[in-house]
Amino acid sequence: MIYLDHAATSPMRESAIEAWARHAGAVNPGAQYASGRKARSVLDSAREQVAEIMGADPVEVVFTASGTEADNVAVQGLFRASSSARIVASAIEHPAVAETVARLGADVELLPVDRSGHICDLSALDTPAALASCMMANNETGAIQPVEQIVARATAQGTPVHVDAVQAVGKIAINFHELGVHTLASSAHKFGGPRGAGFLLARRDSPVQAVMFGGGQERGLRPGTADVASAAALATALGEAVHEMEAEYARLAGLRDKLWQGISSTIDGAVLNTAEPALPGHCHVSFPGADGDSLIMLLDVAGIEASTGSACHAGVNRMSDVLSAMGIPEADGLGSLRLTLGRTTTSEDIEEVLRILPGVVERARSAGLR
Ligand code: PLP
Repeated sequence: MIYLDHAATSPMRESAIEAWARHAGAVNPGAQYASGRKARSVLDSAREQVAEIMGADPVEVVFTASGTEADNVAVQGLFRASSSARIVASAIEHPAVAETVARLGADVELLPVDRSGHICDLSALDTPAALASCMMANNETGAIQPVEQIVARATAQGTPVHVDAVQAVGKIAINFHELGVHTLASSAHKFGGPRGAGFLLARRDSPVQAVMFGGGQERGLRPGTADVASAAALATALGEAVHEMEAEYARLAGLRDKLWQGISSTIDGAVLNTAEPALPGHCHVSFPGADGDSLIMLLDVAGIEASTGSACHAGVNRMSDVLSAMGIPEADGLGSLRLTLGRTTTSEDIEEVLRILPGVVERARSAGLR
């Protein structure tokens, strides 16, 4: 099997599995007795590790049950803290942000993107808002967004910024304090940690309000008995990902370039939708005239696992909102593949994909004609 869907989820690292197993028996870290204190110290160490790696203070780390939950707590919490009914968000946010924003009854203005998938007009930020939300890197194309410029423009109006860094954490250098955002969302399973674990960084002076209520754990922003084993595994995976980051960036970018060069020289009309600056493992390609579902099924039969767009859209037979926002015609966008490379991807994997793909596209194009 060749797994090229690392942007959807990446296999858990051995070190994270070991950390998880070691702490799986941890009891309630809020308990006063010895076993509770022991669990608490594991949770505290995980929090300190995450804080140090991300350039945040430990108190600013809020463990959550997913990236989606971190996005919800931040977007809803910042909106609730403000008297403004206005939200600015990019036109290519993941549903964890886009759907949340859509349900708040806010006056929403979207920052447009150009054909390269990068935000191209920041003028909506020149009017104050309850919050501005922008992803660090897009899950479909991998395009890295101009977050520094967005923060500068929003901050000039007193607008707090939330950044969805779920795809970027562990892949590119991020320093929370230097970035100057109020909140940042991350998810463990994207960098080799467990699925169902994430974290929110929330600046200690941010007015972000609680949107769920209970025992007050995690600064009251994510109440509920903490999952100590997952927090320990998340911190271990993050440490390893960041340690390998520079070398992995170069290795993956090299493999991705080899993949695209091979595709463009063997398949007529292939269009690359991933443009720099982009994450090193993303290769989003359209094959005009091909049927997207056929591409996935034929690759699956050949033992190659990839996605048509984002995993969250899989199964829905329409072009993704991200490709629409980029101005890609539906006839081209429907025949797209998101190939995302990661830690387990080898040069041999890429060679095998390049051997199989031309025939797959040819067959998916004949399916597209019917
Ligand atoms: N934000 C982005 C950019 C993502 O790519 C994803 C997952 O695909 C999420 C949020 C949601 O993360 P999770 O799967 O941990 O809920």
